[in-house]
Amino acid sequence: MMTLKQLLETFPTEDSCKVFLTERRWPKGVTCPRCGNSKVYALPSRPFHWACRACAPKPRYPYRFSVSVGTVFENSNVPLKTWFEVLWQMLNSKKGVSALQIQRQIGRSYPTAWYMCHRLRAGMQDKEFQKLMGIVEVDETYIGGKDKNRHWGKKHHVTGGADKATVIGAISRKGNVVCKMIEKADTKTLNGFVQEAISEKVDLVATDDAGGYRDLNRLGYRHGAVSHMTHQYVIGAVHTCNIDNFWSLLKRGIVGTYHNVSRTYLPLYLNEFVFRHNNRSNPDIFGLAIAEC
Ligand SMILES: [Zn+2]
Repeated sequence: MMTLKQLLETFPTEDSCKVFLTERRWPKGVTCPRCGNSKVYALPSRPFHWACRACAPKPRYPYRFSVSVGTVFENSNVPLKTWFEVLWQMLNSKKGVSALQIQRQIGRSYPTAWYMCHRLRAGMQDKEFQKLMGIVEVDETYIGGKDKNRHWGKKHHVTGGADKATVIGAISRKGNVVCKMIEKADTKTLNGFVQEAISEKVDLVATDDAGGYRDLNRLGYRHGAVSHMTHQYVIGAVHTCNIDNFWSLLKRGIVGTYHNVSRTYLPLYLNEFVFRHNNRSNPDIFGLAIAEC
């Protein structure tokens, strides 16, 4: 991925950003965001604006749209150049970047920086989700809470504490991660998540021996468990090292960078960490993020 200097050189003007956004958003040519019509025409007097007659109630009044309509950049007073810079910063910070840091960097108010970060996180939602294959590790973890003596490395399978949020995740070794916030780590929820996230053709689902995973064989998955309770961490291919690493990065990011993340916004932070992980070796991660946003 390019350096910040290269980014600023590549996108020196608003127009250069808009050209890039147009290309990434509509790689096969501009289509109407409302009806999908590809026979739109550019408005001669307004660059990066188009009009569609197909979905207009009266042909005399075509539907007009800009390059940013329907994206996270829509209706923003902040120049695209600045958005690009913030996105770059976010994609390049393994543990995330705080709104305070962004505020200093772009010289805008804290609320603006905060809002931009959240909009970008919302844009990073995986839109082309594919079920995980190969060997997949599944685990749940607890995040947040007001307890001053939090032990992030410790697992609390019995109780997550009333003010902690429960997150479940699955990671394919050498592949993608999927995670989401859940209300309760009960068998029904865990089964539902596994069926949603993992292909039945998977080679192996590796978990610890938490009771919630006991149904996986019955559901048709090849399941292996290690007993963390008895300090058993690896049996052959069965271990949960990869998801453990992902949790520790996520927690270090959330505790170290954001300090306090409420349940309301936790899913957005999950988007961010998942997007970075799943595109960690994609040289075009920036372009992909722009296309998704
Ligand atoms: Zn249309």
